[in-house]
Amino acid sequence: MADEVVRYEVDGAIARLTMNRPEYGNAQNSAMTYALDDAFYRAASDDDVAVVVLAGAGKHFSAGHDIGTPGRDIDTSFDRRAGLWWDHVGKPGAQSRYAREQEVYLGMCRRWRELPKPLIAQVHGACIAGGLMLAWICDLIVASQDAFFADPVVRMGIPGVEYFAHPWVLGPRQAKEFLFLGERISAARAHELGMVNRVVPRGQLADEVTAMATKISAMPRLGLALTKKAVNQAEDAMGMQVGMDSVFGLHHLAHAHNAEVGADSLAGHDARSMRDARQHDEGAGS
Ligand code: ZN
Repeated sequence: MADEVVRYEVDGAIARLTMNRPEYGNAQNSAMTYALDDAFYRAASDDDVAVVVLAGAGKHFSAGHDIGTPGRDIDTSFDRRAGLWWDHVGKPGAQSRYAREQEVYLGMCRRWRELPKPLIAQVHGACIAGGLMLAWICDLIVASQDAFFADPVVRMGIPGVEYFAHPWVLGPRQAKEFLFLGERISAARAHELGMVNRVVPRGQLADEVTAMATKISAMPRLGLALTKKAVNQAEDAMGMQVGMDSVFGLHHLAHAHNAEVGADSLAGHDARSMRDARQHDEGAGS
């Protein structure tokens, strides 16, 4: 169906999940998060599916979390799956924010990272803030030359998005530059830093991903699952899991500070003000 927030298609051994809110740069509302979760479950359960691809419809992979579209559903209850926290709706202050973000951001991303089949991000256009989380939970990232990456949430006084993989996917020093400046980095730069596996012209992106997925799909299923787990365990042994848990506390300290001193937990920002601030900076820097 064209109006589904996540499209699910299977072609041979490859399942292709496409985020489908192109009019909003595939900004993630909870409807999309839960639809993605359904799609990952479906792909995990389908014995004919060997490799999964995550892509975005329209001009961008993902502009991030939904902080201002008409479909923003932050006050809507969903059946929780990533953990046993209480429903966030109707709870005061940090109780609501913490429960919600534990479930739909950190919890869901961790769960998807453990999909026991190789998962490839097919990234074009913007991959911003919450969009990074979706690319980073994938095993491989293939980007088109026009793709760009940024986490500008330090402007909100927040130390990076909820799934704090930055130091592990960029290295500590580059992670600081990426966060302190909040600048966009190109696909070529992301490749240099080792954050992206391959960069190809936009017209070849889908074909390159399909070719890689097809080649991977010929490998033994359990071998792939165990290899994926082996590398994920190594990342966790390098402190990613406990690091992320500790930073999640800092993240919520920042949200709470914003709410305490100002109007809301995002320091008064929405998608439009973040865009205006970036354009102002770019103008000042040139
Ligand atoms: Zn947050």
